[in-house]
Amino acid sequence: MDTFSDTVHYVFLASAVCFVLGLHLMNHPRTARRGNTLSAGAMAVAIAATVGLVIHEATITTTGWLVLASGGLIGAALGLYAARGVKMTDMPQLVSVFNAVGGGAAALIAVDDLLQAGHPAALGARVSLPGALDIVIGAVTFAGSLIAAGKLQGVVSGAPVVFPGARLLNVLLPVSFVAGTVWLVLAPDSRPALYGLAAVALLFGVTMVLPIGGADMPVVIALLNAFTGSAVAMAGFVLDETALIIAGMLVSASGGILTKLMADAMNRSVTNIVIGGFGTGDSTPTPGADGAPAQVRSLSADDVAVQLAYARKVVFVPGYGLAAAQAQHELGALAKLLTDHGIDVSYAVHPVAGRMPGHMNVLLAEADVPYTQLREMDDINPEFPQADVALVIGANDVTNPMARRPGNAISGMPILDVDKAKSVVVIKRSMGHGYAGVDNELYTDPKTGMFFTDAKKGLSELKAAVGEFVG
Ligand code: NDP
Repeated sequence: MDTFSDTVHYVFLASAVCFVLGLHLMNHPRTARRGNTLSAGAMAVAIAATVGLVIHEATITTTGWLVLASGGLIGAALGLYAARGVKMTDMPQLVSVFNAVGGGAAALIAVDDLLQAGHPAALGARVSLPGALDIVIGAVTFAGSLIAAGKLQGVVSGAPVVFPGARLLNVLLPVSFVAGTVWLVLAPDSRPALYGLAAVALLFGVTMVLPIGGADMPVVIALLNAFTGSAVAMAGFVLDETALIIAGMLVSASGGILTKLMADAMNRSVTNIVIGGFGTGDSTPTPGADGAPAQVRSLSADDVAVQLAYARKVVFVPGYGLAAAQAQHELGALAKLLTDHGIDVSYAVHPVAGRMPGHMNVLLAEADVPYTQLREMDDINPEFPQADVALVIGANDVTNPMARRPGNAISGMPILDVDKAKSVVVIKRSMGHGYAGVDNELYTDPKTGMFFTDAKKGLSELKAAVGEFVG
């Protein structure tokens, strides 16, 4: 290696350090933007250094340059357009499509490398083994992420799609990965081994994600994100690219940790989610005392405003409906009015409230909600009994007391103990279900009142009505 190549490798190392620092900064909403900028900047530097190395080593043809430039430009333009235009509520689909693109690109690198190596002697196991792993993980990620995005977008059924023999197939396909990988390592120029392995991995991506229900999608997306990282790292081994190996392993490790945290937040094991499917069991809500279906109580804006204006402690419980209505600013304004009036206000944030990890924190940060008022589930749950009013805004599954009972679709999922507050008000448009597709027993609790309206409109009305009382 000459001095230029040495310098480029030091640049890769510095970029890697910045990636780690960036991840660390993402631990807190206040520093998260800086963390994102630092990591993205480091990646831009690493890409520039790689291009510099390619120029220095003069290993690329004119056609290669054209492909590289047009790929970079088209990819960057599409990525920028998608990221800028996406609605916050559609972010999980976008993340899933990005995972698909990352996994697919990584797999294609290995396919290309194996196709170009004309004779087996050109490829040792040092390349063919990571190449085979890259194809398997990348193709599973590509197909699985597209199905996950389709489920979230409503193009594919969000309910578990199970067909006869699905579980057996999901055991047999991974076994065939082992056989295909051994075959490809022993005969790296074998086209049947290469295409067969890619086809089986694509099929597994589909059959793995189809039986998983919508409510488990956060965990699946985090898992596929970890797979993307592993595929990229394997591509780094195939190309002997340090920056790809480091970045891929960081994505893989952080995606793996996030997967575990999300699964823990839903009190489920990752294996159970991937193999078990979701949405089975008896999800019938508890009937009223006389056995008849329990009734709901409707409230007007004035009814709710009185409760809020005379409360000492109010806990807001935001959910997906808040995000869908883009009502975070109205919520922040109502909270400020109450705080200014001396009422103790906090926001109870469930780890899977919304449609993606951290969804609520991001939305509330947008509305400049003081971080000190944001409370995590375990922290706020013991305080619900002291809350005069728990105001639920477009949250459903994460407040459903049915989760405490065994044998239903959301059994075991930790919930916010909203039903323990002295009074509960729920803002939503109808008695419609949440993502898990089950009735919510909270709505028929005698101390719960329903304010049926769109979150944005309802919160504006509440602010005006509370203003009348406290103004
Ligand atoms: P839910 O999906 O359980 O419920 C959202 C509720 O919002 C619906 O019942 C809907 O009722 C209401 N709503 C929708 N639009 C509006 C609107 N404009 N105004 C007022 N209300 C509205 O959301 P939660 O946040 O409680 O739970 C999240 C669910 O999503 C969990 O099941 C979780 O596992 C899953 N999930 C979480 C992810 C994450 O990482 N956070 C990712 C993927 C899934 P109505 O139609 O009657 O208004």
